[in-house]
Amino acid sequence: MEIPFRKGLYETGNGIYAYLQPDGGWGWSNAGLISDGGESLLVDTLFDASLTREMLKTMADAAGVGADDIGVIVNTHANGDHTHGNGCCQHAEVIASKASALEMSELPASQLAAIMEQARMMGPAGQYLVDIFGSFDFTDVEEKLPTQTFTGEHRVKVGNKIVDLIEVGPAHTAGDVLVHVPEDSTIFTGDILFIEGTPIMWAGPVANWIAACDKIIDLKADTIVPGHGPITDVPGVRRLQDYLHYIDQEARKRYDAGLSVRDAAHDIRLGDFSSWGDSERIAVNVSTLYREYGGDTKPPDVVQLFGLMAELKQ
Ligand SMILES: [Zn+2]
Repeated sequence: MEIPFRKGLYETGNGIYAYLQPDGGWGWSNAGLISDGGESLLVDTLFDASLTREMLKTMADAAGVGADDIGVIVNTHANGDHTHGNGCCQHAEVIASKASALEMSELPASQLAAIMEQARMMGPAGQYLVDIFGSFDFTDVEEKLPTQTFTGEHRVKVGNKIVDLIEVGPAHTAGDVLVHVPEDSTIFTGDILFIEGTPIMWAGPVANWIAACDKIIDLKADTIVPGHGPITDVPGVRRLQDYLHYIDQEARKRYDAGLSVRDAAHDIRLGDFSSWGDSERIAVNVSTLYREYGGDTKPPDVVQLFGLMAELKQ
């Protein structure tokens, strides 16, 4: 079954739904719903409360599952575009990996709202932030930190359905998790997959991310729902791996030659990958790879990286 990449809720089969948000660029994330025997699990919430409420209304209308019927939310990782609506489901337990829970507590939405408040005075980096995040309202969020955490693998049941949570991070972020429903051959990958958009590696190491893609392929799911972009298949997963291999090779050459992150980010030719959205994310990817090569465990200077992405975008 071919599912179009249009905004809305799509049943992929047997009580499993994907909620898609084109164009899949910055902040436009996907979510999922798993229902069985009167129980429901939501895979991720959206970037602000009003977007999340709109999604929950759609789920109530189309699937008969209202916000109060959601018993469990699983956050695939800590980024706000997957967590800022957690509080919209009053009764839900919120499950995340331990590493994600820690990351969530470190960056509350109020901090993002404060940055956006200043963005117009921050020059090109600020203008870039307004361009990519201006349509979201970080003053209107319903945050709720995880109520349950795990490391490694964790199995939950939704009605009679088994749902396996598989920690594959650190990769995109510190605590990425895959959500696998074996009996329905469906996997929600969170931001381990960006489809038709450029993956952004905040955490790394890159080998972990490549291995996470292998894990997805090994699970042989018929339905693969990425964190951003259209529903995909194994070739789609392999293309993302190809990108990671390619930028690793290219960044390594420039690191060995002594180029700065900035020069390397400008210099790397993305070829076919340049048609993917938000290609300027190469800046963050090079920075993360460089820190990996140098054994540098300090967190990146995020404001500086947004400045470099703004520069590359021009
Ligand atoms: Zn995301």
